[in-house]
Amino acid sequence: MKKRSQSKYFLSLVGVILLLFGICTQNISAVSEKASNLAPNRNVLVIHLNSSEHGYQALFNEGLRKAFEQDTRYYYSISTEYLEMNKIPHDAVFLDKTVELLSYKLKHSNWIPDIVVASDGVSEWLMKYKEYLFDDLPIVACAPTKAGKSTIPIDQFTKHYLLPGNDAFADNYQLILDLLPKTNNIYVVLGNSYEEQNLMRMAQEGAVHFEDRVNFIYTNRRPNADMLSTLRNAPPDSAVLYSRWTTDIEGESFVSTRYLDFMPSTIHIPVFGTQLQYLDNGIVGGYIHDVSLLGEDAGNMVKDLLDGVEPTIYTDSGRYHRYVFDQRVLDEWDISSGHLPADSTILFVEENFWQEHWKLVIAVATIILLQSIFIFTLVRNIRRRIKAEAEIMLINESLEDTVEKRTLELRDAIAQLAELNRTLDYTARIDALTGLYNRRHMDERLHEELEVFKRLNEEFSVMIVDIDDFKIVNDTHGHEVGDKVLVILAESLRVNVREYDIVSRWGGEEFLLLLPGLNEADAYGRAEKLRKRVQELACTNEEPILCVTVTIGVATIRQNEDISQLINRADVALYQGKYSGKNRSVLAK
Ligand code: GH3
Ligand code: MG
Ligand code: MG
Repeated sequence: MKKRSQSKYFLSLVGVILLLFGICTQNISAVSEKASNLAPNRNVLVIHLNSSEHGYQALFNEGLRKAFEQDTRYYYSISTEYLEMNKIPHDAVFLDKTVELLSYKLKHSNWIPDIVVASDGVSEWLMKYKEYLFDDLPIVACAPTKAGKSTIPIDQFTKHYLLPGNDAFADNYQLILDLLPKTNNIYVVLGNSYEEQNLMRMAQEGAVHFEDRVNFIYTNRRPNADMLSTLRNAPPDSAVLYSRWTTDIEGESFVSTRYLDFMPSTIHIPVFGTQLQYLDNGIVGGYIHDVSLLGEDAGNMVKDLLDGVEPTIYTDSGRYHRYVFDQRVLDEWDISSGHLPADSTILFVEENFWQEHWKLVIAVATIILLQSIFIFTLVRNIRRRIKAEAEIMLINESLEDTVEKRTLELRDAIAQLAELNRTLDYTARIDALTGLYNRRHMDERLHEELEVFKRLNEEFSVMIVDIDDFKIVNDTHGHEVGDKVLVILAESLRVNVREYDIVSRWGGEEFLLLLPGLNEADAYGRAEKLRKRVQELACTNEEPILCVTVTIGVATIRQNEDISQLINRADVALYQGKYSGKNRSVLAK
Protein backbone atom coordinates (compact mmCIF):
# COMPACT_ATOMS: atom_id res chain seq x y z
CA MET A 1 0.00 0.00 0.00
CA LYS A 2 2.86 2.29 0.86
CA LYS A 3 4.38 1.51 -2.48
CA ARG A 4 1.14 2.31 -4.25
CA SER A 5 0.75 5.82 -2.70
CA GLN A 6 4.44 6.54 -3.40
CA SER A 7 3.91 5.73 -7.03
CA LYS A 8 0.77 7.94 -7.06
CA TYR A 9 2.89 10.83 -5.79
CA PHE A 10 5.65 9.97 -8.23
CA LEU A 11 3.12 9.96 -11.11
CA SER A 12 1.79 13.46 -10.09
CA LEU A 13 5.36 14.82 -10.09
CA VAL A 14 6.04 13.25 -13.49
CA GLY A 15 2.77 14.85 -14.71
CA VAL A 16 3.88 18.33 -13.59
CA ILE A 17 7.34 17.83 -15.17
CA LEU A 18 5.76 16.61 -18.43
CA LEU A 19 3.45 19.64 -18.42
CA LEU A 20 6.43 22.00 -18.07
CA PHE A 21 8.33 20.01 -20.67
CA GLY A 22 5.28 20.21 -22.94
CA ILE A 23 5.14 24.00 -22.61
CA CYS A 24 8.88 24.28 -23.39
CA THR A 25 8.72 21.96 -26.40
CA GLN A 26 5.63 23.80 -27.61
CA ASN A 27 7.63 27.02 -27.66
CA ILE A 28 10.60 25.33 -29.29
CA SER A 29 8.41 23.73 -31.94
CA ALA A 30 6.69 27.07 -32.57
CA VAL A 31 10.09 28.66 -33.14
CA SER A 32 11.32 25.85 -35.37
CA GLU A 33 8.02 25.86 -37.26
CA LYS A 34 8.52 29.55 -38.00
CA ALA A 35 12.15 28.97 -38.96
CA SER A 36 11.26 26.14 -41.29
CA ASN A 37 8.45 28.17 -42.84
CA LEU A 38 10.47 30.18 -45.34
CA ALA A 39 7.73 32.54 -46.45
CA PRO A 40 8.51 34.76 -49.48
CA ASN A 41 9.71 38.31 -48.76
CA ARG A 42 7.67 41.44 -49.19
CA ASN A 43 9.83 44.58 -49.10
CA VAL A 44 8.28 47.60 -47.43
CA LEU A 45 10.03 50.99 -47.55
CA VAL A 46 8.95 53.18 -44.62
CA ILE A 47 9.69 56.90 -44.86
CA HIS A 48 9.65 59.13 -41.81
CA LEU A 49 10.17 62.85 -42.24
CA ASN A 50 11.52 63.23 -38.70
CA SER A 51 14.61 61.79 -37.02
CA SER A 52 14.49 58.35 -35.41
CA GLU A 53 14.78 59.82 -31.88
CA HIS A 54 11.13 60.78 -31.75
CA GLY A 55 8.90 58.31 -29.95
CA TYR A 56 6.26 58.94 -32.58
CA GLN A 57 8.24 56.99 -35.22
CA ALA A 58 8.93 54.08 -32.89
CA LEU A 59 5.22 53.76 -32.03
CA PHE A 60 4.24 53.89 -35.69
CA ASN A 61 6.78 51.17 -36.58
CA GLU A 62 5.50 49.05 -33.69
CA GLY A 63 1.91 49.16 -35.05
CA LEU A 64 3.13 48.43 -38.57
CA ARG A 65 5.06 45.34 -37.44
CA LYS A 66 2.08 44.17 -35.42
CA ALA A 67 -0.07 44.15 -38.58
CA PHE A 68 2.64 42.32 -40.56
CA GLU A 69 3.16 39.66 -37.86
CA GLN A 70 -0.45 38.62 -38.21
CA ASP A 71 0.18 37.72 -41.87
CA THR A 72 2.20 34.48 -41.95
CA ARG A 73 2.10 34.16 -45.76
CA TYR A 74 4.98 36.63 -46.21
CA TYR A 75 8.06 37.74 -44.41
CA TYR A 76 7.90 41.54 -44.37
CA SER A 77 11.35 43.03 -44.82
CA ILE A 78 11.11 46.64 -43.60
CA SER A 79 13.61 49.30 -44.58
CA THR A 80 13.12 52.52 -42.60
CA GLU A 81 14.38 55.89 -43.84
CA TYR A 82 14.44 58.86 -41.46
CA LEU A 83 14.72 61.73 -43.95
CA GLU A 84 14.75 64.45 -41.24
CA MET A 85 13.37 66.99 -43.72
CA ASN A 86 12.00 69.02 -40.81
CA LYS A 87 15.53 69.78 -39.61
CA ILE A 88 16.30 72.37 -42.31
CA PRO A 89 12.88 72.61 -44.00
CA HIS A 90 13.70 75.68 -46.12
CA ASP A 91 17.12 74.63 -47.36
CA ALA A 92 16.68 73.47 -50.99
CA VAL A 93 20.21 72.05 -51.18
CA PHE A 94 19.62 69.91 -48.08
CA LEU A 95 16.26 68.69 -49.42
CA ASP A 96 17.64 67.96 -52.89
CA LYS A 97 20.57 66.06 -51.44
CA THR A 98 18.28 64.07 -49.12
CA VAL A 99 16.12 63.03 -52.07
CA GLU A 100 19.26 62.31 -54.11
CA LEU A 101 20.63 60.10 -51.35
CA LEU A 102 17.37 58.16 -51.05
CA SER A 103 17.22 57.74 -54.85
CA TYR A 104 20.85 56.56 -54.88
CA LYS A 105 20.13 53.99 -52.17
CA LEU A 106 17.07 52.66 -53.99
CA LYS A 107 18.87 52.34 -57.29
CA HIS A 108 22.13 50.83 -56.04
CA SER A 109 21.04 48.46 -53.32
CA ASN A 110 19.78 44.95 -54.06
CA TRP A 111 16.77 45.68 -51.98
CA ILE A 112 13.82 46.70 -54.20
CA PRO A 113 10.68 47.89 -52.41
CA ASP A 114 7.27 46.40 -53.29
CA ILE A 115 5.44 49.24 -51.56
CA VAL A 116 6.10 52.56 -49.80
CA VAL A 117 4.67 53.83 -46.51
CA ALA A 118 4.99 57.53 -45.63
CA SER A 119 4.46 57.89 -41.89
CA ASP A 120 3.51 61.56 -41.69
CA GLY A 121 3.09 64.78 -43.66
CA VAL A 122 3.76 64.81 -47.35
CA SER A 123 6.42 67.39 -48.10
CA GLU A 124 6.51 69.35 -51.32
CA TRP A 125 9.84 67.73 -52.12
CA LEU A 126 8.44 64.25 -51.68
CA MET A 127 5.62 65.21 -54.02
CA LYS A 128 8.04 66.75 -56.49
CA TYR A 129 10.25 63.68 -56.69
CA LYS A 130 7.51 61.12 -56.27
CA GLU A 131 7.82 59.65 -59.75
CA TYR A 132 11.59 59.93 -59.77
CA LEU A 133 11.85 58.07 -56.46
CA PHE A 134 9.04 55.57 -56.50
CA ASP A 135 7.96 55.29 -60.14
CA ASP A 136 4.61 53.49 -60.01
CA LEU A 137 5.11 51.74 -56.64
CA PRO A 138 1.97 51.69 -54.52
CA ILE A 139 2.12 54.22 -51.68
CA VAL A 140 0.33 54.36 -48.34
CA ALA A 141 0.48 57.78 -46.69
CA CYS A 142 -0.52 58.85 -43.20
CA ALA A 143 -0.97 62.58 -43.52
CA PRO A 144 -1.88 64.85 -40.66
CA THR A 145 -5.13 66.59 -41.39
CA LYS A 146 -4.08 70.06 -40.36
CA ALA A 147 -0.68 70.33 -38.81
CA GLY A 148 1.31 69.33 -41.89
CA LYS A 149 3.16 72.22 -43.53
CA SER A 150 2.14 70.97 -46.98
CA THR A 151 -0.70 72.61 -48.71
CA ILE A 152 -0.78 69.80 -51.22
CA PRO A 153 -3.95 67.80 -51.00
CA ILE A 154 -3.00 64.31 -49.86
CA ASP A 155 -4.91 62.56 -52.65
CA GLN A 156 -2.53 64.09 -55.20
CA PHE A 157 0.30 62.16 -53.61
CA THR A 158 -1.60 58.87 -53.26
CA LYS A 159 -5.13 57.62 -53.33
CA HIS A 160 -4.31 55.39 -50.36
CA TYR A 161 -4.03 57.46 -47.24
CA LEU A 162 -5.10 57.72 -43.63
CA LEU A 163 -6.19 60.84 -41.77
CA PRO A 164 -4.76 60.47 -38.31
CA GLY A 165 -5.91 63.70 -36.74
CA ASN A 166 -3.69 65.48 -34.22
CA ASP A 167 -3.42 66.58 -30.61
CA ALA A 168 -6.93 66.98 -29.19
CA PHE A 169 -6.53 70.15 -27.13
CA ALA A 170 -10.15 70.90 -26.24
CA ASP A 171 -10.79 67.33 -25.05
CA ASN A 172 -7.72 67.50 -22.85
CA TYR A 173 -8.70 70.88 -21.32
CA GLN A 174 -12.09 69.39 -20.51
CA LEU A 175 -10.43 66.31 -19.01
CA ILE A 176 -8.12 68.38 -16.77
CA LEU A 177 -11.03 70.42 -15.47
CA ASP A 178 -13.13 67.29 -14.88
CA LEU A 179 -10.42 65.49 -12.95
CA LEU A 180 -9.00 68.55 -11.16
CA PRO A 181 -11.94 70.98 -10.93
CA LYS A 182 -9.97 73.48 -8.84
CA THR A 183 -7.55 74.13 -11.69
CA ASN A 184 -7.32 77.84 -12.54
CA ASN A 185 -4.31 77.81 -14.86
CA ILE A 186 -3.46 75.50 -17.73
CA TYR A 187 0.08 75.71 -19.08
CA VAL A 188 0.20 74.47 -22.67
CA VAL A 189 3.71 73.34 -23.57
CA LEU A 190 4.49 73.94 -27.22
CA GLY A 191 7.76 74.94 -28.87
CA ASN A 192 8.47 77.30 -31.65
CA SER A 193 8.94 75.05 -34.69
CA TYR A 194 6.75 75.47 -37.75
CA GLU A 195 4.75 72.39 -36.80
CA GLU A 196 4.41 73.60 -33.19
CA GLN A 197 3.22 76.97 -34.39
CA ASN A 198 0.45 75.22 -36.31
CA LEU A 199 -0.36 73.20 -33.19
CA MET A 200 -0.38 76.47 -31.25
CA ARG A 201 -3.22 77.75 -33.38
CA MET A 202 -5.17 74.54 -32.69
CA ALA A 203 -4.41 74.84 -28.96
CA GLN A 204 -5.76 78.40 -28.89
CA GLU A 205 -8.81 77.49 -30.93
CA GLY A 206 -9.57 74.68 -28.46
CA ALA A 207 -9.18 77.04 -25.49
CA VAL A 208 -11.88 79.45 -26.63
CA HIS A 209 -14.69 77.64 -24.79
CA PHE A 210 -12.76 77.39 -21.51
CA GLU A 211 -11.26 80.87 -21.19
CA ASP A 212 -14.02 82.06 -18.85
CA ARG A 213 -13.13 79.30 -16.38
CA VAL A 214 -9.36 79.04 -16.62
CA ASN A 215 -6.25 81.00 -17.65
CA PHE A 216 -4.20 79.58 -20.52
CA ILE A 217 -0.49 80.16 -20.59
CA TYR A 218 1.43 79.07 -23.72
CA THR A 219 5.11 78.34 -23.45
CA ASN A 220 6.14 79.13 -27.05
CA ARG A 221 8.33 82.10 -27.79
CA ARG A 222 10.47 81.35 -24.76
CA PRO A 223 13.92 79.95 -24.27
CA ASN A 224 14.00 76.55 -22.61
CA ALA A 225 15.15 77.78 -19.18
CA ASP A 226 12.38 80.39 -19.15
CA MET A 227 9.80 77.78 -20.04
CA LEU A 228 11.00 75.53 -17.18
CA SER A 229 11.07 78.31 -14.59
CA THR A 230 7.59 79.39 -15.71
CA LEU A 231 6.33 75.91 -14.92
CA ARG A 232 8.30 75.66 -11.68
CA ASN A 233 6.83 78.92 -10.42
CA ALA A 234 3.30 78.09 -11.45
CA PRO A 235 0.72 78.47 -8.66
CA PRO A 236 -0.48 75.19 -7.13
CA ASP A 237 -3.95 75.45 -8.74
CA SER A 238 -2.33 74.83 -12.15
CA ALA A 239 -1.89 71.92 -14.55
CA VAL A 240 0.27 71.35 -17.62
CA LEU A 241 -0.82 70.04 -20.99
CA TYR A 242 2.32 68.84 -22.75
CA SER A 243 1.94 68.84 -26.54
CA ARG A 244 5.49 69.19 -27.96
CA TRP A 245 8.78 70.74 -27.01
CA THR A 246 11.03 70.30 -30.00
CA THR A 247 12.37 73.83 -30.67
CA ASP A 248 12.52 76.86 -28.35
CA ILE A 249 12.62 80.52 -29.39
CA GLU A 250 16.39 80.39 -29.52
CA GLY A 251 16.30 77.54 -32.01
CA GLU A 252 17.47 74.89 -29.55
CA SER A 253 15.99 71.53 -30.44
CA PHE A 254 14.70 68.88 -28.10
CA VAL A 255 13.26 65.38 -28.29
CA SER A 256 9.86 65.69 -26.70
CA THR A 257 9.83 62.25 -25.11
CA ARG A 258 13.32 62.68 -23.68
CA TYR A 259 12.40 66.07 -22.34
CA LEU A 260 9.43 64.68 -20.49
CA ASP A 261 11.74 62.21 -18.82
CA PHE A 262 12.82 64.84 -16.28
CA MET A 263 10.30 67.68 -16.55
CA PRO A 264 7.44 66.36 -14.37
CA SER A 265 9.86 65.51 -11.59
CA THR A 266 11.17 69.10 -11.45
CA ILE A 267 7.83 70.91 -11.31
CA HIS A 268 5.08 70.77 -8.70
CA ILE A 269 1.93 70.58 -10.76
CA PRO A 270 0.36 67.68 -12.61
CA VAL A 271 1.34 67.17 -16.27
CA PHE A 272 -1.10 65.85 -18.83
CA GLY A 273 0.02 64.79 -22.31
CA THR A 274 -1.34 64.50 -25.84
CA GLN A 275 0.62 61.53 -27.25
CA LEU A 276 0.77 57.87 -26.35
CA GLN A 277 4.58 57.83 -26.35
CA TYR A 278 4.57 60.31 -23.44
CA LEU A 279 3.13 57.75 -21.08
CA ASP A 280 5.58 56.24 -18.57
CA ASN A 281 7.44 59.56 -18.48
CA GLY A 282 5.70 61.05 -15.46
CA ILE A 283 2.49 62.33 -17.08
CA VAL A 284 -0.93 61.66 -15.59
CA GLY A 285 -2.23 60.65 -19.01
CA GLY A 286 -4.76 62.33 -21.23
CA TYR A 287 -6.93 62.11 -24.28
CA ILE A 288 -3.96 60.86 -26.27
CA HIS A 289 -3.13 60.33 -29.90
CA ASP A 290 -2.26 56.65 -30.44
CA VAL A 291 0.16 56.44 -33.39
CA SER A 292 0.67 52.70 -32.98
CA LEU A 293 -2.90 52.14 -34.17
CA LEU A 294 -2.17 54.40 -37.17
CA GLY A 295 0.85 52.22 -37.96
CA GLU A 296 -1.32 49.10 -37.65
CA ASP A 297 -3.93 50.56 -40.04
CA ALA A 298 -1.13 51.47 -42.49
CA GLY A 299 0.21 47.90 -42.24
CA ASN A 300 -3.22 46.46 -43.03
CA MET A 301 -3.51 48.80 -46.03
CA VAL A 302 -0.12 47.55 -47.25
CA LYS A 303 -1.35 43.93 -47.04
CA ASP A 304 -4.52 44.79 -48.98
CA LEU A 305 -2.59 46.64 -51.72
CA LEU A 306 -0.08 43.79 -52.11
CA ASP A 307 -3.05 41.41 -52.44
CA GLY A 308 -4.61 43.72 -55.04
CA VAL A 309 -7.52 44.50 -52.76
CA GLU A 310 -8.84 48.04 -52.41
CA PRO A 311 -7.98 49.03 -48.78
CA THR A 312 -10.26 50.62 -46.22
CA ILE A 313 -9.62 54.37 -45.82
CA TYR A 314 -10.36 55.68 -42.34
CA THR A 315 -11.33 59.33 -42.26
CA ASP A 316 -12.63 59.50 -38.70
CA SER A 317 -10.00 61.57 -36.88
CA GLY A 318 -11.31 60.33 -33.52
CA ARG A 319 -10.22 56.82 -34.43
CA TYR A 320 -6.67 57.33 -33.08
CA HIS A 321 -7.63 59.04 -29.82
CA ARG A 322 -8.37 57.45 -26.51
CA TYR A 323 -8.12 58.10 -22.80
CA VAL A 324 -4.99 56.56 -21.31
CA PHE A 325 -3.63 57.08 -17.79
CA ASP A 326 -0.70 56.07 -15.62
CA GLN A 327 -2.00 54.62 -12.36
CA ARG A 328 1.17 55.60 -10.50
CA VAL A 329 0.79 59.29 -11.38
CA LEU A 330 -2.95 59.23 -10.74
CA ASP A 331 -2.13 58.05 -7.22
CA GLU A 332 0.48 60.77 -6.85
CA TRP A 333 -2.14 63.46 -7.51
CA ASP A 334 -4.92 61.68 -5.64
CA ILE A 335 -7.03 61.27 -8.75
CA SER A 336 -9.46 58.42 -8.23
CA SER A 337 -9.76 56.06 -11.20
CA GLY A 338 -13.53 56.20 -10.53
CA HIS A 339 -13.57 59.75 -11.92
CA LEU A 340 -11.91 58.81 -15.21
CA PRO A 341 -13.94 58.60 -18.43
CA ALA A 342 -15.73 55.28 -18.79
CA ASP A 343 -13.61 53.85 -21.62
CA SER A 344 -10.23 54.78 -20.14
CA THR A 345 -7.18 52.56 -20.33
CA ILE A 346 -5.12 52.55 -17.14
CA LEU A 347 -1.51 51.47 -17.48
CA PHE A 348 1.09 50.53 -14.87
CA VAL A 349 -1.45 49.30 -12.37
CA GLU A 350 0.62 47.97 -9.55
CA GLU A 351 -0.47 44.46 -8.97
CA ASN A 352 -1.08 43.30 -5.44
CA PHE A 353 0.74 40.25 -4.17
CA TRP A 354 -1.98 37.90 -5.38
CA GLN A 355 -2.19 39.43 -8.88
CA GLU A 356 1.58 39.35 -9.23
CA HIS A 357 2.26 35.91 -7.84
CA TRP A 358 -0.98 33.93 -8.24
CA LYS A 359 0.63 31.36 -10.56
CA LEU A 360 3.47 30.78 -8.14
CA VAL A 361 1.06 30.63 -5.19
CA ILE A 362 -1.10 28.07 -6.99
CA ALA A 363 1.96 26.00 -7.98
CA VAL A 364 3.32 26.04 -4.40
CA ALA A 365 -0.15 25.29 -2.98
CA THR A 366 -0.51 22.39 -5.43
CA ILE A 367 2.89 20.99 -4.43
CA ILE A 368 2.04 21.39 -0.72
CA LEU A 369 -1.34 19.75 -1.32
CA LEU A 370 0.23 16.83 -3.20
CA GLN A 371 2.84 16.39 -0.50
CA SER A 372 0.20 16.62 2.23
CA ILE A 373 -1.85 13.94 0.47
CA PHE A 374 1.30 11.83 0.15
CA ILE A 375 2.23 12.29 3.83
CA PHE A 376 -1.37 11.71 4.95
CA THR A 377 -1.55 8.51 2.90
CA LEU A 378 1.84 7.42 4.19
CA VAL A 379 0.89 8.03 7.84
CA ARG A 380 -2.48 6.31 7.34
CA ASN A 381 -0.79 3.30 5.77
CA ILE A 382 1.82 3.14 8.55
CA ARG A 383 -0.98 3.25 11.13
CA ARG A 384 -2.89 0.57 9.29
CA ARG A 385 0.22 -1.58 9.11
CA ILE A 386 0.93 -1.13 12.84
CA LYS A 387 -2.70 -2.04 13.59
CA ALA A 388 -2.54 -5.05 11.28
CA GLU A 389 0.74 -6.16 12.85
CA ALA A 390 -0.82 -5.85 16.33
CA GLU A 391 -3.82 -7.86 15.15
CA ILE A 392 -1.52 -10.50 13.64
CA MET A 393 0.41 -10.64 16.91
CA LEU A 394 -2.85 -11.13 18.83
CA ILE A 395 -3.94 -13.83 16.41
CA ASN A 396 -0.52 -15.47 16.70
CA GLU A 397 -0.69 -15.35 20.47
CA SER A 398 -4.16 -16.84 20.53
CA LEU A 399 -3.02 -19.37 17.94
CA GLU A 400 -0.07 -20.28 20.12
CA ASP A 401 -2.44 -20.63 23.11
CA THR A 402 -4.74 -22.80 21.06
CA VAL A 403 -1.84 -24.93 19.80
CA GLU A 404 -0.52 -25.27 23.36
CA LYS A 405 -3.97 -26.15 24.62
CA ARG A 406 -4.50 -28.66 21.79
CA THR A 407 -1.00 -30.12 22.43
CA LEU A 408 -1.85 -30.61 26.09
CA GLU A 409 -5.19 -32.11 25.17
CA LEU A 410 -3.44 -34.35 22.65
CA ARG A 411 -0.87 -35.36 25.25
CA ASP A 412 -3.74 -36.20 27.65
CA ALA A 413 -5.48 -38.12 24.91
CA ILE A 414 -2.25 -39.99 24.11
CA ALA A 415 -1.77 -40.74 27.80
CA GLN A 416 -5.39 -41.90 28.05
CA LEU A 417 -4.88 -43.98 24.94
CA ALA A 418 -1.68 -45.49 26.33
CA GLU A 419 -3.54 -46.23 29.55
CA LEU A 420 -6.35 -47.71 27.51
CA ASN A 421 -3.86 -49.73 25.49
CA ARG A 422 -2.25 -50.90 28.67
CA THR A 423 -5.68 -51.82 29.98
CA LEU A 424 -6.48 -53.53 26.70
CA ASP A 425 -3.13 -55.27 26.69
CA TYR A 426 -3.67 -56.30 30.28
CA THR A 427 -7.18 -57.43 29.52
CA ALA A 428 -5.86 -59.37 26.53
CA ARG A 429 -3.41 -61.12 28.81
CA ILE A 430 -5.83 -61.91 31.64
CA ASP A 431 -8.29 -64.73 31.85
CA ALA A 432 -11.73 -63.30 32.52
CA LEU A 433 -12.93 -66.07 34.86
CA THR A 434 -9.95 -66.62 37.13
CA GLY A 435 -8.05 -63.34 36.85
CA LEU A 436 -4.89 -65.25 36.06
CA TYR A 437 -2.66 -64.58 33.04
CA ASN A 438 -3.95 -66.30 29.91
CA ARG A 439 -2.14 -68.59 27.51
CA ARG A 440 -1.01 -65.64 25.26
CA HIS A 441 0.81 -63.86 28.09
CA MET A 442 2.32 -67.09 29.32
CA ASP A 443 3.61 -67.85 25.84
CA GLU A 444 5.50 -64.52 25.70
CA ARG A 445 6.86 -64.93 29.21
CA LEU A 446 8.06 -68.45 28.40
CA HIS A 447 9.98 -67.20 25.34
CA GLU A 448 11.50 -64.35 27.36
CA GLU A 449 12.59 -66.77 30.01
CA LEU A 450 14.02 -69.04 27.36
CA GLU A 451 16.12 -66.08 26.09
CA VAL A 452 17.40 -65.41 29.61
CA PHE A 453 18.24 -69.09 29.90
CA LYS A 454 20.06 -69.08 26.60
CA ARG A 455 22.00 -65.95 27.49
CA LEU A 456 22.69 -66.44 31.20
CA ASN A 457 22.03 -70.17 31.52
CA GLU A 458 19.54 -69.43 34.26
CA GLU A 459 17.26 -72.43 34.19
CA PHE A 460 13.53 -72.45 34.81
CA SER A 461 10.78 -74.98 35.18
CA VAL A 462 7.17 -75.27 34.11
CA MET A 463 4.24 -77.12 35.62
CA ILE A 464 0.98 -78.16 33.95
CA VAL A 465 -1.66 -78.47 36.67
CA ASP A 466 -4.80 -80.39 35.56
CA ILE A 467 -7.90 -80.90 37.73
CA ASP A 468 -8.69 -84.50 38.19
CA ASP A 469 -12.09 -85.66 37.02
CA PHE A 470 -13.42 -82.19 36.59
CA LYS A 471 -15.97 -83.35 34.14
CA ILE A 472 -17.67 -85.20 37.00
CA VAL A 473 -17.74 -81.93 39.03
CA ASN A 474 -19.50 -80.22 36.21
CA ASP A 475 -21.79 -83.05 35.52
CA THR A 476 -22.69 -83.45 39.19
CA HIS A 477 -22.95 -79.86 40.36
CA GLY A 478 -23.38 -77.90 37.24
CA HIS A 479 -21.15 -75.65 35.18
CA GLU A 480 -21.46 -72.68 37.54
CA VAL A 481 -20.10 -74.61 40.45
CA GLY A 482 -17.36 -75.87 38.12
CA ASP A 483 -16.46 -72.19 37.44
CA LYS A 484 -16.34 -71.49 41.16
CA VAL A 485 -13.97 -74.39 41.66
CA LEU A 486 -11.76 -73.01 38.88
CA VAL A 487 -11.68 -69.56 40.58
CA ILE A 488 -10.85 -70.96 44.03
CA LEU A 489 -8.19 -73.25 42.63
CA ALA A 490 -6.63 -70.43 40.64
CA GLU A 491 -6.43 -68.23 43.77
CA SER A 492 -4.85 -71.08 45.70
CA LEU A 493 -2.17 -71.54 43.03
CA ARG A 494 -1.46 -67.80 42.87
CA VAL A 495 -1.02 -67.28 46.58
CA ASN A 496 1.15 -70.33 46.97
CA VAL A 497 3.86 -69.39 44.47
CA ARG A 498 6.71 -66.88 44.74
CA GLU A 499 6.15 -63.31 43.77
CA TYR A 500 8.03 -63.64 40.52
CA ASP A 501 6.47 -66.98 39.51
CA ILE A 502 3.83 -66.78 36.75
CA VAL A 503 0.54 -68.61 37.06
CA SER A 504 -1.68 -68.86 33.96
CA ARG A 505 -4.83 -70.59 32.85
CA TRP A 506 -3.56 -72.72 30.00
CA GLY A 507 -6.95 -73.91 28.86
CA GLY A 508 -10.17 -75.50 30.30
CA GLU A 509 -9.22 -76.87 33.70
CA GLU A 510 -5.48 -76.84 33.06
CA PHE A 511 -3.05 -74.29 34.56
CA LEU A 512 0.54 -73.68 33.45
CA LEU A 513 3.04 -72.32 35.93
CA LEU A 514 6.46 -70.76 35.12
CA LEU A 515 8.95 -70.96 37.88
CA PRO A 516 12.19 -69.07 37.14
CA GLY A 517 15.44 -70.31 38.69
CA LEU A 518 14.05 -73.69 39.78
CA ASN A 519 15.84 -76.88 38.78
CA GLU A 520 14.05 -80.22 38.41
CA ALA A 521 14.30 -81.21 42.04
CA ASP A 522 13.14 -77.86 43.42
CA ALA A 523 10.42 -77.72 40.83
CA TYR A 524 9.16 -81.10 41.68
CA GLY A 525 9.22 -80.27 45.36
CA ARG A 526 7.29 -77.09 44.70
CA ALA A 527 4.74 -79.05 42.61
CA GLU A 528 4.10 -81.43 45.37
CA LYS A 529 3.63 -78.63 47.80
CA LEU A 530 1.09 -77.01 45.53
CA ARG A 531 -0.75 -80.22 44.90
CA LYS A 532 -1.03 -80.84 48.65
CA ARG A 533 -2.30 -77.25 49.22
CA VAL A 534 -5.06 -77.92 46.67
CA GLN A 535 -5.91 -81.14 48.32
CA GLU A 536 -5.96 -79.47 51.75
CA LEU A 537 -7.96 -76.58 50.46
CA ALA A 538 -10.60 -78.87 49.06
CA CYS A 539 -10.73 -81.13 52.00
CA THR A 540 -10.91 -78.37 54.63
CA ASN A 541 -13.69 -76.62 52.75
CA GLU A 542 -17.09 -76.98 54.27
CA GLU A 543 -18.51 -77.81 50.87
CA PRO A 544 -17.62 -81.41 50.21
CA ILE A 545 -18.45 -80.91 46.61
CA LEU A 546 -15.38 -78.91 46.13
CA CYS A 547 -13.07 -81.66 47.19
CA VAL A 548 -10.88 -81.81 44.07
CA THR A 549 -7.35 -82.89 43.40
CA VAL A 550 -4.87 -82.01 40.72
CA THR A 551 -2.21 -83.88 38.74
CA ILE A 552 0.93 -81.93 37.87
CA GLY A 553 3.39 -82.52 35.05
CA VAL A 554 6.75 -80.84 35.83
CA ALA A 555 9.55 -80.11 33.35
CA THR A 556 12.77 -78.11 33.63
CA ILE A 557 14.34 -76.49 30.59
CA ARG A 558 17.17 -78.21 28.99
CA GLN A 559 19.94 -77.03 26.64
CA ASN A 560 18.84 -76.66 23.00
CA GLU A 561 15.21 -77.16 23.91
CA ASP A 562 12.48 -74.83 22.72
CA ILE A 563 9.26 -73.92 24.55
CA SER A 564 6.99 -76.34 22.70
CA GLN A 565 9.36 -79.22 23.47
CA LEU A 566 9.46 -78.17 27.11
CA ILE A 567 5.65 -77.96 27.32
CA ASN A 568 5.32 -81.21 25.53
CA ARG A 569 7.56 -82.96 28.05
CA ALA A 570 5.50 -81.46 30.90
CA ASP A 571 2.33 -82.64 29.17
CA VAL A 572 3.69 -86.13 28.75
CA ALA A 573 4.59 -86.13 32.46
CA LEU A 574 1.02 -84.97 33.26
CA TYR A 575 -0.49 -87.84 31.30
CA GLN A 576 1.78 -90.26 33.04
CA GLY A 577 0.43 -88.85 36.30
CA LYS A 578 -3.12 -89.39 35.11
CA TYR A 579 -2.46 -92.91 34.01
CA SER A 580 -0.74 -93.73 37.15
CA GLY A 581 -3.69 -92.79 39.34
CA LYS A 582 -3.93 -89.00 39.38
CA ASN A 583 -3.41 -86.59 42.37
CA ARG A 584 0.31 -86.61 41.99
CA SER A 585 3.26 -84.77 40.53
CA VAL A 586 5.36 -86.31 37.80
CA LEU A 587 8.77 -84.98 36.75
CA ALA A 588 9.27 -85.14 33.03
CA LYS A 589 11.98 -87.22 31.58
P1 GH3 B 1 -9.15 -86.45 34.06
O1 GH3 B 1 -9.06 -86.62 35.42
O2 GH3 B 1 -8.63 -87.47 33.15
O3 GH3 B 1 -8.56 -85.10 33.75
O4 GH3 B 1 -10.69 -86.30 33.75
P2 GH3 B 1 -11.50 -85.10 33.55
O5 GH3 B 1 -12.93 -85.23 33.58
O6 GH3 B 1 -11.04 -83.85 34.35
O7 GH3 B 1 -11.03 -84.62 32.08
P3 GH3 B 1 -11.80 -84.52 30.78
O8 GH3 B 1 -10.85 -84.04 29.76
O9 GH3 B 1 -12.54 -85.71 30.47
O10 GH3 B 1 -12.86 -83.43 31.10
C1 GH3 B 1 -12.58 -82.05 31.36
C2 GH3 B 1 -13.78 -81.32 31.74
O11 GH3 B 1 -13.56 -80.04 32.17
C3 GH3 B 1 -14.76 -81.23 30.62
C4 GH3 B 1 -15.27 -79.87 30.70
O12 GH3 B 1 -16.62 -79.71 30.73
C5 GH3 B 1 -14.70 -79.32 31.91
N1 GH3 B 1 -14.39 -77.96 31.73
C6 GH3 B 1 -13.40 -77.40 30.95
N2 GH3 B 1 -13.41 -76.04 31.07
C7 GH3 B 1 -14.43 -75.69 31.99
C8 GH3 B 1 -14.90 -74.46 32.52
O13 GH3 B 1 -14.45 -73.34 32.19
N3 GH3 B 1 -15.93 -74.56 33.47
C9 GH3 B 1 -16.50 -75.68 33.84
N4 GH3 B 1 -17.49 -75.67 34.79
N5 GH3 B 1 -16.08 -76.83 33.31
C10 GH3 B 1 -15.01 -76.86 32.38
MG1 MG C 1 -7.79 -81.83 31.24
MG1 MG D 1 -9.00 -83.05 34.23
